[in-house]
Amino acid sequence: MYKKIVGALIFVSCFAANAKQEVNVYSYRQAFLVEPLFEKFTNETGVKVNVVFAKKGMAERLKREGKHSPADVLLTTDISRLIELKDQGLLQTVDSERIEQAIPAQYQADDNTWFALTTRVRNIYSAKRLGEIDVNYEDLADPKWKGKICTRSGKHPYNVALVASMIAEHGEAKTLTWLEGFKRNLARKPQGNDRGQVQAIHQQLCDISLGNSYYFGKMLQNEKQKMWAGAVNINFPNQKNRGAHVNISGIGMAKFAPNANNAKALMEFLVSEPAQEMYAETNMEYPVRKGVKVSKFVAEWGAFSADSLPLETIAKYRKAALVLLDKAKFDL
Ligand code: FE
Repeated sequence: MYKKIVGALIFVSCFAANAKQEVNVYSYRQAFLVEPLFEKFTNETGVKVNVVFAKKGMAERLKREGKHSPADVLLTTDISRLIELKDQGLLQTVDSERIEQAIPAQYQADDNTWFALTTRVRNIYSAKRLGEIDVNYEDLADPKWKGKICTRSGKHPYNVALVASMIAEHGEAKTLTWLEGFKRNLARKPQGNDRGQVQAIHQQLCDISLGNSYYFGKMLQNEKQKMWAGAVNINFPNQKNRGAHVNISGIGMAKFAPNANNAKALMEFLVSEPAQEMYAETNMEYPVRKGVKVSKFVAEWGAFSADSLPLETIAKYRKAALVLLDKAKFDL
């Protein structure tokens, strides 16, 4: 009898110790990006990081699991996926001066429910054969590009965020006119991914395309794709006015996080200087923390100014952007 009780007590105390030393992450970001960081965090703190990787369905899963969800930390790409989690009440606020001070105000939530970890520009890629060009997003509707533009679906989150930023800048009516002009300029129906458009420029199917900044680096480091990237220049749009449209990868704490303290420690670690350098470098993105340098490779693409409008303001126009994309029959 006595032995049994001791056994049970030992089991309980081990379990408690383990619970303290863990943090559970649901991630839309790929393993190769985040695993080296989590390893470093575990080495420094002794806290084990358990990760579930997924491509979609995070919000649904969290809702299904409800209060019993093991999730502590949610890692996503793109502002719209973070706002989706926030709007559905799946995030909790994280009050941390370290985080708040490390990150520019435009890349964190007003209510501390999410913040960015890295940023990426929505660039305009142009055929090298055109020489240097100075281009704004507004120019995508200029008839001089008729039949010369390639893009992925207008409804991909990266393009929806760009259209939302156009609404924030110009209002809905002008943005619709812009989308209709842009649509008329397309060389082919929207299709494929960002890299596929650069491939199409290489194949001379079009002259310019929209694509995120890090894909330029990824293509240059890919045996098969480096000739695609070699056929284009990477342009930072709107440099003489509001700046280039920037999106983020970001993070939030799950509403019912069972290991909230460890989750906060992991979040603070991810905005620390060494983690920011590592994270941005692995995916060829821009560090969100002020004062952390971009990798040498990315720096070669040149400095740029970014649109300073808060992402939360831009995200408010996501639904309106989807309506306008339908009205313009952009993907049809
Ligand atoms: Fe991407």
